[in-house]
Amino acid sequence: MVRYVYDFTEGSRDQAGLLGGKGANLAEMTGLGLPVPPGFTVTTEACRAFLAAGELPQDLSRQVVLALRQLEKRTGRRLGQADDPLLLSVRSGARYSMPGMMDTILDVGLNDTTVHGLAKHSGRERFAWDSYRRLIQMYGSTVMGVDEGLFAEALARAEKVRGTTGGQQLGTRDPGELVAEFKAIVRKATGTDFPQDPDEQLEQSVLAVFRSWNGERARVYRRRERIPDDLGTAVNIQAMVYGNLGPDSGTGVAFTRDPATGRAGVYGDYLPDAQGEDVVAGIRNTVPLQDLRDIDSLSYERLLAHMELLEEHYRDLCDVEFTIERGRLWMLQTRIGKRTAQAAFRIAAELVDEGRITWDEALLRVGGTQLTQLMFPRFDQRASGRPLAHGIPASPGAAVGQVVFDSAEAVRRATAGERVVLVREETTPDDLPGMIAAQAVLTSRGGKTSHAAVVARGMGKVCVCGADDVRIDLTRRRFTTGAGQEVAEGCVVSVDGTAGTVHLGALPLVDSPVMRYLETGERSAGPAEAVERVLQQADAVARLEVRANADTPEDAARARRFGARGIGLCRTEHMFLGGRRRLVEDMILARTDSERQCALDALLPLQRADFVGILTAMDGLPVTIRLLDPPLHEFLPDRTELAVRIASAKAAGRVPDDREVRLLEAVERIREQNPMLGLRGVRLALTVPGLTAMQVRALGEAVVARVRAGGDPRAEIMVPLVGTQEELRVVREQVETTLSEVFTAAKCTVQCPVGTMIELPRAALTAAGIARYADFFSFGTNDLTQTTWGFSRDDAEASFFAPYFDQGILRASPFEKLDEDGVGRLIRTAVAEGRAARPGIKIGVCGEHGGDPDSIHFFHATGLDYVSCSPFRVPGARLEAARAALPSAGREGHSTA
Ligand code: PEP
Ligand code: MG
Repeated sequence: MVRYVYDFTEGSRDQAGLLGGKGANLAEMTGLGLPVPPGFTVTTEACRAFLAAGELPQDLSRQVVLALRQLEKRTGRRLGQADDPLLLSVRSGARYSMPGMMDTILDVGLNDTTVHGLAKHSGRERFAWDSYRRLIQMYGSTVMGVDEGLFAEALARAEKVRGTTGGQQLGTRDPGELVAEFKAIVRKATGTDFPQDPDEQLEQSVLAVFRSWNGERARVYRRRERIPDDLGTAVNIQAMVYGNLGPDSGTGVAFTRDPATGRAGVYGDYLPDAQGEDVVAGIRNTVPLQDLRDIDSLSYERLLAHMELLEEHYRDLCDVEFTIERGRLWMLQTRIGKRTAQAAFRIAAELVDEGRITWDEALLRVGGTQLTQLMFPRFDQRASGRPLAHGIPASPGAAVGQVVFDSAEAVRRATAGERVVLVREETTPDDLPGMIAAQAVLTSRGGKTSHAAVVARGMGKVCVCGADDVRIDLTRRRFTTGAGQEVAEGCVVSVDGTAGTVHLGALPLVDSPVMRYLETGERSAGPAEAVERVLQQADAVARLEVRANADTPEDAARARRFGARGIGLCRTEHMFLGGRRRLVEDMILARTDSERQCALDALLPLQRADFVGILTAMDGLPVTIRLLDPPLHEFLPDRTELAVRIASAKAAGRVPDDREVRLLEAVERIREQNPMLGLRGVRLALTVPGLTAMQVRALGEAVVARVRAGGDPRAEIMVPLVGTQEELRVVREQVETTLSEVFTAAKCTVQCPVGTMIELPRAALTAAGIARYADFFSFGTNDLTQTTWGFSRDDAEASFFAPYFDQGILRASPFEKLDEDGVGRLIRTAVAEGRAARPGIKIGVCGEHGGDPDSIHFFHATGLDYVSCSPFRVPGARLEAARAALPSAGREGHSTA
């Protein structure tokens, strides 16, 4: 019989896969002797079984009843007991934290009878009815599918009549009045009564949590966070404790370090006389955790001691949720806390300094994507002027965008290419699509632990919350500031998530300190210092080398400052653009060999100068120069424009320009249905006489010039889009002939390896043969992905990836994250065959995937020698190369529950 239920006294934090993050950590805290309300966890395996079969797995109900009996014994109360009922919370808890994305039902066990028992036992009648009201609301909407808005409206009406706000216990003459109204809402909406049987409530609540795994918002969240869809959620069933039993009760969220900056020292929010959900929802404004010292010093000291123990035990920033019930502290949850990128680096470095973790562990706690985030710009302080509004700096960074007031509008404008700032009173999980679409989120209510703050921080998105002088008028689509200024939808604002301010208009942005450090070596305290130390360690650990894709001396120099160990791809076609395009046109239009040679001769000195610049910037490091790749008509003017000009000239009785006529002829001649699969890459080298010789001569002469100038040029020549070894054999001969001419004439001997890109499936499958003529391989994973999948890299992403994501056919774009099963298999084959045929052959990758964290781990595991990526991704790639070399490297952002 499969075991589906574990008591909190049985599990441990290592079982997050089975018990979910929350369940595993509750068990861990229980094991540590912390005051956790007793309870048990229904496993993710049970959820998976339910999702697969559409019904609860056999024996689950029996196991739940057994665990419940244990719980009743321990608490001395029974579910449904009339005079003093056991009440339960039923909460979701998946392997990876998905804050607020699934369902929770509290106060399970209340009904028309037990509500009196709770009232009597707690001595608070209003509290008991309010709890019952909350249960009907949560159960009604999540289990019975009643429109949540119906309850919210009824609640708002009641609050208006009685002059209370924010779901506080209603000061009503008849405390059961709202319960009666809520029950009537349920009956009217569903045709059935709110169930009075506590066992039924419990079973249905568990089912609802299971189902919420596949709810809309959970699916959207998973897609964004790349959490697999098949994990399922666990369900935690726990004895209720109450923070809303008067001034000696309350609830809060706390962190062992500041999750925004990483600064050491406890930090958090407390809300007296409230339930946990009130804090997360940001419904009422919280007080700083430090205030708890005055409110209830004993609980405060205990909490600090528990947090100290947790940080010591987990050796990382922990966040906790706690409740104080009439002066008694209960720990409701802990986990390794989410943090901003900036905080992640600082905490990792400081934990090493404190002797709590090793550098290897520190490297596993930060990631390349976070590092890239820290390279984003921020606002120029001096230009910031008087802010429109102030709020809580909930997630740092700087963003500019048009104000929008709802999620749908945010998505609409973002899809149309606008940058938007989502402005809401507070956010709910339903706002998730809008938050993803927005550059920044601004709320007028809620604190650093509100939904908006938690989710934005997780996404690395700028967020200012609790800006309570911002009053939103949804009907007129505008907000008014404290000073009376009106800001309409569509107005551009700048949001400073580090300062917590909002400014009218687009403020100028400046580079981040991390970028400044990377660019200049100028180090400042804070994130730049932590990043520097982390990168130093990373370089010592990494086996994969990181090179850059760069086509100009400036990019090459920047890449070198960012730590690139050479250039893995210099796309020479980028040197043929601008004013030089005319020279390429001349080459294409040439009618005779000598005309063509003339055009090539004109291009040669320009190419040579480019190469000299790049070899200078990368002196002493390898520079892989790729022969011309794209189809030639990319260098010619637009066909329609040319045709129109020629036709207009004719219509006006003028003789059309001869060059334009010839250009049009050339465009017609070399136009292709499918240029990506046409006359490009090595095929150009083999069909345009003199082209390869010109490029190689330019490079050879640049190498000679650098040697004569005392430099150490390390040029490598790379042939693109090879499909058969014969192509490479012929081109290699041409290359070697030209190089030997140049070097002999210059009386200079320099080694210039000649290699090839592997970017066609055939090349990968025949790598052994190709390796005969290749000194190195570089995987062009952009083309290799396109040709393996049969997806056009120009069209697929825009045309049909969205429905593919929606239907779960694709989880990530294979153009961003390497498709390990398909493209990866070709790579593994090519590596094995290439190395067998030519032991020690150098192998790298220069497609976009070379800068993608997940893909870098694959390239490391596959035994590549280097990855090459755009200069801005180099620091992140250095870090990921190190992480990949460490045992048990987790997926970034998900390495903790
Ligand atoms: C590739 O195909 O992966 C590659 C690096 O070449 P390009 O993107 O220039 O085709
Ligand atoms: Mg390519």
